[in-house]
Amino acid sequence: MLEQAQRILKEVFGYDAFRGNQAAIIERVARGGDALVLMPTGGGKSLCYQVPALLREGLAVVVSPLIALMEDQVATLDELGVPAVALNSTLSLDEQREIAERIRQGGIKLLYLAPERLVQPRMLAFLQRLPIGLFAIDEAHCVSQWGHDFRPEYLQLGQLAELFPQVPRIALTATADKRTREEIVQRLHLENAERFLSSFDRPNIFYRIVAKDQPRKQLLGFLAERRGDAGIVYCMSRKKVEELAAFLSEQGFPALPYHAGLSNELRTLHQKRFLNEEGLIMVATIAFGMGIDKPNVRFVAHLDLPKSLEAYYQETGRAGRDGLPADAWMAYGLQDVIFLKQMLNNSEGDERHKRIEQHKLDAMLALCEETRCRRQALLAYFDEELAKPCGHCDNCVDGVQTWDATEAARQALSAIYRSGQRYGVGHLVDILLGRDNDKVRGLGHQHLSVFGVGKAHGEGEWRTLFRQLVARGLADVDLDGYGGLRLNQGCRALLRGEVRLELRRDLKPQAPRPTASAASQLVRHDEREQWEALRTLRRRLAEEHSVPPYVIFPDATLLEMLRSRPRSLSEMARVNGVGARKLERYGEAFLEVLNRSAGAPKPVTDLRHELVSLARAGMTPAQIARQLDCTEKNVYSLLAEAIVRRQLTLEQALDLPEELLGEIHDAFLDGDGELPPVAALAEQFGERVPQGVLHCVRAALQTELDP
Ligand code: ADP
Ligand code: ZN
Repeated sequence: MLEQAQRILKEVFGYDAFRGNQAAIIERVARGGDALVLMPTGGGKSLCYQVPALLREGLAVVVSPLIALMEDQVATLDELGVPAVALNSTLSLDEQREIAERIRQGGIKLLYLAPERLVQPRMLAFLQRLPIGLFAIDEAHCVSQWGHDFRPEYLQLGQLAELFPQVPRIALTATADKRTREEIVQRLHLENAERFLSSFDRPNIFYRIVAKDQPRKQLLGFLAERRGDAGIVYCMSRKKVEELAAFLSEQGFPALPYHAGLSNELRTLHQKRFLNEEGLIMVATIAFGMGIDKPNVRFVAHLDLPKSLEAYYQETGRAGRDGLPADAWMAYGLQDVIFLKQMLNNSEGDERHKRIEQHKLDAMLALCEETRCRRQALLAYFDEELAKPCGHCDNCVDGVQTWDATEAARQALSAIYRSGQRYGVGHLVDILLGRDNDKVRGLGHQHLSVFGVGKAHGEGEWRTLFRQLVARGLADVDLDGYGGLRLNQGCRALLRGEVRLELRRDLKPQAPRPTASAASQLVRHDEREQWEALRTLRRRLAEEHSVPPYVIFPDATLLEMLRSRPRSLSEMARVNGVGARKLERYGEAFLEVLNRSAGAPKPVTDLRHELVSLARAGMTPAQIARQLDCTEKNVYSLLAEAIVRRQLTLEQALDLPEELLGEIHDAFLDGDGELPPVAALAEQFGERVPQGVLHCVRAALQTELDP
């Protein structure tokens, strides 16, 4: 079973090895068992049902919540030569009828459906008359009311267990928490499902959180090293989204806005452009994201604070699905804290709900002020322990300077208290620094005992300190809208001198820092030209086929081409991500670009050598013949030769149905001793089997009999 799966992986998908739990999951489902798969974004969930779909008899039905997502998957499978379709409301009745017919005739391996469509009585009746190989329920957390993507239609998927008791079901999600997991099991009746829980670490993402100072300038600084990369910039409000998108475009960074206030058409258009074009920046509210499967999003930047670590993890997780280096960057400041706390306070809902939300926000703030490894802290929140600091986040790379802020914090708290617990940070800092201005005078605050006691620290340091006091719950923000600070119960121990306070120092924003992220250095300087040539070709092919560029080849595959410099189709076949179908379709074109821009003449390749590699890569004799520009007959005889020389096994050379192979074997082995020549069998098989096939089978038998 696994061997077969491995072969499909190489031949169809072009990949050399399964990742993580993939092999175990595929084996479980292919053998007919249920599975619950929890895997982070980019972990490779699709293969977990696509490979079993090809291994099992019958139709695989994939439930997916979003049309865009389905279309992306169908286009990808189409490029791989796997017959897949999506039935959705955008199709005309005629088109739907035609698809139904193809399904009935067994011409389709994977059918993508929205949940509400699947559970229509007519659809269920239709499916019950067909051989079904498996059900895959993608984004399975949508069944959970606890999570943020709840979709009532998902609840109805529970009935599949009863209606199709013999059909294995696999549910997949990138949502990690225990409660959601249990809800999936219960509501989808997956009590017998084996659970596959992967690490939720995203090792290729570099995390950085900076103190917000001049956010636009900081963002430009971040983007400057990432010109030409696609990314998402999240902002809280629609207005800010619009303004920032316009600003970035002016600054020469092509950017599009996306938020719920835009018309449907415009949103769809912008989403399509983001997927299909390269190097676009999407400036968006959190309305944008779910169902964005674009694998080469190189960065996610937050200009406003997400309201929980769940949201932060999910939003940053949209970067680097392809496994190549990516960045999660965030600028955060006191205003964010104030804003979110106000939102929370004004939100509907009972006290219990508010407490939970408050708790989630506190966890988010703690990550911002974290002094240890960010990744360790983030994963710990999801109950996952990372043994060592990761070495791939700002805290690990830059180090964190902390200082004993006990005394300063006391002064700050005292300034809040003595001025009456109603003023904002600006005024409090003026008091501490002893600034004799109109407001201070007007209020008589120059007479306070704390007036001017804080001259040991600068304005920036005081602002940081106040932010940290709020983030740590030692001071509260007055939520009426003016941002005045009050003391919180939590500060008592500190005021009484019972505890000390250790805080992180903000790095000076103007200090130049080396970028630790490798995202911008994906391609070395001397490789730029060729990289662009490859991308141009990919873009052209994508346009011709009306698919996003990454459906032709993902960046990782282009990068491997660039580095391994294949000089022939057989070498090209070895590149990860180049399967038989794509090799046939695109191999030549990419080789030409590689060899042209390398300035090297294309080497004369040995036909035999080439043929062996192509066969190993899973090409059929007809495909090989086209590729090598010779006759099929010629290919068969070369294949037979290669089998005799033991360079190929029969299975590698040809894909013969078990039964037919048995029949041919019988025919050859019927006599006694010597294998009869092919000509002797030609009549028996006639038109049904090309003579070349007989030659190959004979060659294989010969090697077996003559070890
Ligand atoms: P998920 O749905 O879990 O976010 P995908 O199924 O979209 O992840 O896979 C993410 C990327 O990783 C895709 O580009 C996919 O082709 C690639 N991928 C998945 N499995 C493998 C593998 N075994 N080897 C190489 N690439 C893989
Ligand atoms: Zn770290």
